Amino acid sequence: MDNFYLDTETQKPQKPQHKSFELPGAKPHYSPDKPGQVEHIFLDLALDIPHQSYQGTCKIRLNPVRDDVTHLMLDAVNLQIDSVTIDGTQQPFDYDGEQLRILLREIPTPGKALTLAIAYRCEKPQRGLYFIGPTDDYPDKPVQVWTQGEDEDSRFWFPCFDYPGQLSTSEIRVRVPQPYIAVSNGELVDTQEDGDSKIYHWMQKQVHPTYLMTLAVGDFEVIQDHWRDIPVTYYVEKGRQEDGQRTMGKTPQMIEFFSQVFGYDYAYPKYAQVCVADFIFGGMENTSTTLLTDRCLLDERAALDNRNAESLVAHELAHQWFGDLLVINHWSHAWVKEGMATYSEVLWTEREYGADEAAYYRLGEMRSYLSEDKTRYRRPMVTHIYREAIELYDRHIYEKGACVYHMLRTALGMSRFKKRFITLCKTTLTARLRL
Ligand SMILES: [Zn+2]
Repeated sequence: MDNFYLDTETQKPQKPQHKSFELPGAKPHYSPDKPGQVEHIFLDLALDIPHQSYQGTCKIRLNPVRDDVTHLMLDAVNLQIDSVTIDGTQQPFDYDGEQLRILLREIPTPGKALTLAIAYRCEKPQRGLYFIGPTDDYPDKPVQVWTQGEDEDSRFWFPCFDYPGQLSTSEIRVRVPQPYIAVSNGELVDTQEDGDSKIYHWMQKQVHPTYLMTLAVGDFEVIQDHWRDIPVTYYVEKGRQEDGQRTMGKTPQMIEFFSQVFGYDYAYPKYAQVCVADFIFGGMENTSTTLLTDRCLLDERAALDNRNAESLVAHELAHQWFGDLLVINHWSHAWVKEGMATYSEVLWTEREYGADEAAYYRLGEMRSYLSEDKTRYRRPMVTHIYREAIELYDRHIYEKGACVYHMLRTALGMSRFKKRFITLCKTTLTARLRL
């Protein structure tokens, strides 16, 4: 049966005027059955930047949770799979260009971790990992390589169990031609020069989902700052050092502010922001390593009346708590992180420019949501019915999500609102933090 609403004037039943959110082909989406818990992912890659290709090994340590697993199904799109081993023994596999099905020679024992090693290569990837460089039309474009995993694109650059319900530590070792710098999640544990190449080895010791794994490579200018004793680094194209400082310079103050507001100190060993060319979004909150579009960089004149970049920096930073530390289990809950990151723009505005400015900012968010509701569609904030998860990233989860958080803060009061977050973080973290 259709839903009917009462017309406010006539009190007669009226059909809702809203268009449907669900596109043709939309269906319910569930998290896949887990054959095991992924404990660690190690990517060991060598980039061939002139040929826009790379090759290497993806090692996944998996702790089986069932004793009847005969095969493993990994997400892996448009990769060339050379070989698959488990604990050093070759395994047969099928690969259809989207999923890698590994047939197990031995049924694994629950509790006894096994290590999958997949040797693979990739040429001119279409998603996941992007090679950027000069073209005839844009001869000054810098040479860069960067990744974008959210929501389900990490599978385009490495084989993985690609959904947010799998959290693991991760490690990326990458060989790049000199003088390029490679930045990734966590701490830089080693660098090694080898002829014309340099190997960067990054280690992320706090568990996180595959969509937050990242790699950014370029001949960057590095601006070094800090918050307490944690390095805060801005990477920008050569010659844009002042713009970088101007645009991201408030980051340490923001880290202090959000550590106070959320009642939980910034959790990672560093915070890097890398401004990259042709980025497909405004920013992406990869764990401890946010990527930002280089279009957010402000020159002196633009900085006079443009706070968008500051809001973007605050938004991605707030995700380090909401999204990265506190991870959603399914895309249908994306409002939990996007709503809070968007509301954090309000919180930062309040701290920096006062209550009136914050109220006006919030009003803008509300109007933005209401206009989508009026002209596009109305939907529940949480729904698992869609065609692709990316369809969920609309004003219902960002701007309305922010309004819902404001409502919760108003109802609970700031101190109880904060307490709820701390409890959530502590319960999830104690279970997840593996060193
Ligand atoms: Zn966001």
